[in-house]
Amino acid sequence: MQRLFLAALVFCLFVPRAIRAQNDDYLVLISWDGCRWDYINRNLTPNVQKLIDDGVRAESLQPVFPSKTFPNHYTLVTGLYPENHGIVFNKFQDFITGESYRIGKDAPSIHRDKWYKGESLWITAQKHGIKSGIVFWPGSETFKKHPDYFLTYDHTMPHKERLDRLIEWISLPPAERPHLLLLYFPDADDDGHEFGPDSEKVNETIQKLDTTLGDLVGRLKETGLYKKTNIVLVSDHGMVNTDIDKRINIREMLSGFHFKVNGDSPNLTFFSDKNEIEKMYKVLKNNENGFNVYQKKQIPAHLHMRESPFTGQLLVMAKPGYYFKSPWPESKGSHGFDPEIRDVHGVFVAHGPAFKKGFTMGTIENIDVYPLLCSVMGITPTKNIDGSLNRVKAFLK
Ligand code: AMP
Ligand code: ZN
Ligand code: ZN
Repeated sequence: MQRLFLAALVFCLFVPRAIRAQNDDYLVLISWDGCRWDYINRNLTPNVQKLIDDGVRAESLQPVFPSKTFPNHYTLVTGLYPENHGIVFNKFQDFITGESYRIGKDAPSIHRDKWYKGESLWITAQKHGIKSGIVFWPGSETFKKHPDYFLTYDHTMPHKERLDRLIEWISLPPAERPHLLLLYFPDADDDGHEFGPDSEKVNETIQKLDTTLGDLVGRLKETGLYKKTNIVLVSDHGMVNTDIDKRINIREMLSGFHFKVNGDSPNLTFFSDKNEIEKMYKVLKNNENGFNVYQKKQIPAHLHMRESPFTGQLLVMAKPGYYFKSPWPESKGSHGFDPEIRDVHGVFVAHGPAFKKGFTMGTIENIDVYPLLCSVMGITPTKNIDGSLNRVKAFLK
């Protein structure tokens, strides 16, 4: 008996406080696609500021490479680098099977479970008996690994309707009610591309997003569940000003060569036979201006791209502000660049019963968000992830 008591005492003293017991609180994870780290420092987002004042924030949230939408949203909910979770680009092909993956509302590939490795937050939650409801999140519409409640992607769905769905789900009878809710908004990314990250239009858009956040808080208060709700606001990446004159015509540079390519601007990866690759490498190396070219084994380790079967023998990365000519219209902002570049960093703000009040950290990595959110819900993250709770547990009470 005495031994048991001692064991319990040792457990209480040494188990980190950040590992919380499973609880019946709620977790609302919100993504503002393309919200650059500094957008919330512009004095335009009073509702975000209220969460920060009474909660926590990181100065910036470092994305994974490539700093694109699908790879990063899926990292946020798996704690894995893209080479381990499989969604390495927004668009790529498996050149062995010939099957391709592409994002987009009507792309059948976004539903196919085979592309999505690792375990998403909603599956971990499900394993612990927690239901989830998702108003759009990359990876949430798969045939088998989907959450309890989800919707078919609709880019133009008004903000109010997104909130309506969430409030509907959170108001369900307790046995059917999701305690994990994810909400996605594309607006800051859309306008950052079209008008540039420092445009007046982006400022208007963040204000609109902030008003919606205020509405969400108000509506959660009406349900009586606000005090039991942890709200976490993130973004997948930031946005870099692009200069129309910084266009690189890689296809022209490689005309006459035979190759296959994965990715899109600002990152392209090439597959071909050994001889062709050697010659292509020389041509690219001789013209290495505004971009970097790497043979697979030379890809910088911090990009975590060497192990993916979808990375070819060469990787070509545009430098910030540069872009590769494509059939798409030119834009004033872009992302996808090396995660070490500050302008591709996103935001991280959190508030609620699990979080400290008035606490800030510097830059945190988005691979650590999944284990942090598991801890917020008091559930055990899946094994073998790249992220670590240790680096971010200081946010928790
Ligand atoms: P990008 O800026 O190229 O990395 O991609 C952003 C785009 O991804 C958005 O504008 C949407 O069109 C698309 N997108 C975002 N979430 C989803 C989703 N859940 N399903 C399908 N497409 C999506
Ligand atoms: Zn995005
Ligand atoms: Zn974008």
